[in-house]
Amino acid sequence: MTRQEQVASGLEVVRGRIAGACADAGRDPGEVRLVVVTKFFPASDVRILADLGITDVGENRHQEAQAKAAECADLGLTWHFIGGLQSNKAAAVASYADVVESVDRAKLLTGLDRGAHERDRALDVLLQVSLDPPGREGRAGVDPDGLAALGTAVAAAGMLRLRGLMAVAPLGEDPASAFERLAGIRRDFLADHPDATWLSAGMSGDLEHAVRAGATHVRIGSAVLGSRPQVK
Ligand SMILES: *Cc1c(COP(=O)(O)O)cnc(C)c1O
Repeated sequence: MTRQEQVASGLEVVRGRIAGACADAGRDPGEVRLVVVTKFFPASDVRILADLGITDVGENRHQEAQAKAAECADLGLTWHFIGGLQSNKAAAVASYADVVESVDRAKLLTGLDRGAHERDRALDVLLQVSLDPPGREGRAGVDPDGLAALGTAVAAAGMLRLRGLMAVAPLGEDPASAFERLAGIRRDFLADHPDATWLSAGMSGDLEHAVRAGATHVRIGSAVLGSRPQVK
């Protein structure tokens, strides 16, 4: 099998899963965008994905993302930055990313806004909300209690467009219950920010639960591209 055939068959499976989850949840599959997470995979895979009709790709490490986005600039893809972000890299990320999904503190906003200004293009922003219990090690995302204030700060930044929320299901918890909690957090958030309708949730292992909970974007890596190389 060629790499193109491998990726095509992974995509077919994932598209089928999304369609099935939408049917079960009574949702239109057109409401759920597939973001293929290409971290650790080469730019040649990004090209194959674009060939197969993928419009959105996700990366979680700045240097790798920057290089790949430059290499694939001719493809017109939408680049989602989904990883942990250092404030001194925020402006650089905004120079190539179209959506930054992992905004979890106000300290990032100045850099993101400046990067968007330099590019002369509004940047779509999602707030990453933590579904982990407080105090858990390696916890990423803003605490649900801090979401309202962070949302207000993003909305006040000139070049940032507050689009919605992003979350990762915690290890060791049933994703169904975690995403149900997320749906409640999102309901409250939408009351304050009615235009922030995007919800990025769901990975290869739990996309069905995320679709049920209202996800508008699923971030899928291994189910499309195979297991990630261990190198790097
Ligand atoms: C790597 C990654 C994904 C994709 O994970 P898979 O299990 O390979 O689908 C999704 N979201 C984030 C934030 C990631 O870092």
